Amino acid sequence: MKRGRIIILSGPSGSGKTTLHQKLLKDPAFKRKFVKSLSVTTRAPRPGEQDGRDYFFINKKQFLSKQKKGEFLESMKVFDNYYGTPKDKVDQNLDRGKNVLLCIDVQGAAVVGSRYKDAVKIFIKTPSLKDLKARLEQRATEDTDKLKLRLKTAKEELKEAGEYDYVVINDVLNRAYRELARILKAEVLGAVKKRKLNPALSR
Ligand code: ADP
Ligand code: 5GP
Repeated sequence: MKRGRIIILSGPSGSGKTTLHQKLLKDPAFKRKFVKSLSVTTRAPRPGEQDGRDYFFINKKQFLSKQKKGEFLESMKVFDNYYGTPKDKVDQNLDRGKNVLLCIDVQGAAVVGSRYKDAVKIFIKTPSLKDLKARLEQRATEDTDKLKLRLKTAKEELKEAGEYDYVVINDVLNRAYRELARILKAEVLGAVKKRKLNPALSR
């Protein structure tokens, strides 16, 4: 069986990684061939988030123990909380021929990209920082200080966009989704010729 590929969706918090990957996992063109890697975090669940569906929520002691045992493909401290990608699950899914989506921060993306050379690295951004701020405010999951930290970090993260295979601007959701789907069809499913991709949005 052909081994699956890792697809990294990265970019600032609020850029739309969750929205886009959830759309992808509902799309009949992808849902049987793609799985999302479920990260482990010490962050508290947001209202509506479920353990084992959105993240595995654990405490810092449990996280550090897993980290010590080498259970993570990568792990990072992001905005005062720890996040990690469980290695076993990713490898099992790749071996089963599934393509594995990782929605992770830019530091984690750099680590995974250096370990899995065939990973497809996609950077998601909003048209402007103003849009990013408006979306984080509208999502209303962080208090003012935490939101400020996410925006400050975003400015640094945006500098890394050039390291990615593709940059998708999440302007109008359906348009951005079509762009993402087209990239994945070309890169992973081999269904569209790569040269047909819009060179302005992808490199
Ligand atoms: P991330 O997972 O990258 O942190 P989210 O997917 O949670 O980002 O998106 C941040 C917020 O922006 C959410 O409230 C989401 O509903 C909203 N959003 C996502 N994409 C768009 C878009 N294209 N236009 C307007 N709002 C969007
Ligand atoms: P949030 O708290 O908004 O769910 O996530 C905060 C940031 O951590 C986002 O940029 C998200 O992509 C990133 N993140 C989530 N899971 C992981 C992970 O396993 N590893 C790394 N490095 N970042 C992660």
